[in-house]
Amino acid sequence: MPEGHVIHRLARDLTEEFAGQRVCVSSPQGRFATSAALIDDHVLTHADAYGKQLFIHFAGPHVVSIHLGLIGKFRVAPLSDPGPTVRLRIANSSVAADLIGPQWCRLVTEDEVAQAVAKLGADPLRADADPEWLWTRVSRSSRTIASLLMDQKLFAGVGNIYRAEPLFRLGLSPFTPGRELSRELFDALWADLVTLMQDGVTAGRIDTVRLEHTPEAMGRDPRKDDHGGEVYVYRRAGLPCHVCGTEVQHQVLEGRNLFWCPTCQSS
Ligand SMILES: [Zn+2]
Repeated sequence: MPEGHVIHRLARDLTEEFAGQRVCVSSPQGRFATSAALIDDHVLTHADAYGKQLFIHFAGPHVVSIHLGLIGKFRVAPLSDPGPTVRLRIANSSVAADLIGPQWCRLVTEDEVAQAVAKLGADPLRADADPEWLWTRVSRSSRTIASLLMDQKLFAGVGNIYRAEPLFRLGLSPFTPGRELSRELFDALWADLVTLMQDGVTAGRIDTVRLEHTPEAMGRDPRKDDHGGEVYVYRRAGLPCHVCGTEVQHQVLEGRNLFWCPTCQSS
């Protein structure tokens, strides 16, 4: 599933490409056709991301709310014929943004956007995020930090990679209950999420290894994985830890794969 950096990058790209323009809105697949007709030839004002949710605002009362889910894709590319599976197309005379296979794509009002956002937690990629609010909740919880990090009502936009990697970088066991986390470690975790996720928006992929652990610095082969860049533990189960050589561990926690190094992450 795309993590928050993908959605923020999309919001940025859509705003850069279309903001202030009357755009053509259509649904080649048909399932969004009635809604698309209501905003076709309207001015797209801006796109905004909150956690893993994308909101595309139009002049007037309409906002398109999108969640990509597990398999959804939204690509911005030079104008060409749309495929039959495109749920939503936003286009100007040279560029089209095509949405395929989202978990949802629906027309909502600004009030409904506010209601949706109110259910989401603090998003490390948003300047208006409130880590104090988050600390209050995390520090009172008996749930593990691994569980808390995946809760969109707490850490909005964080997914499996941005859960695994900051915990490794801080030497923090994923099984530490929230209420046993020191304020210092919480602050360090939040700061690391902000840094890594901002890097993800800039680069368009997730790299989390420090300079001394890059393939070049370590004289090792680059990672080959559909899920992107250089990481310490994510999808590296059974492989040696880049820092200590211990086999990276894996278990399913609340239905999602968790990866960690038992030696480096003992606190
Ligand atoms: Zn290790």
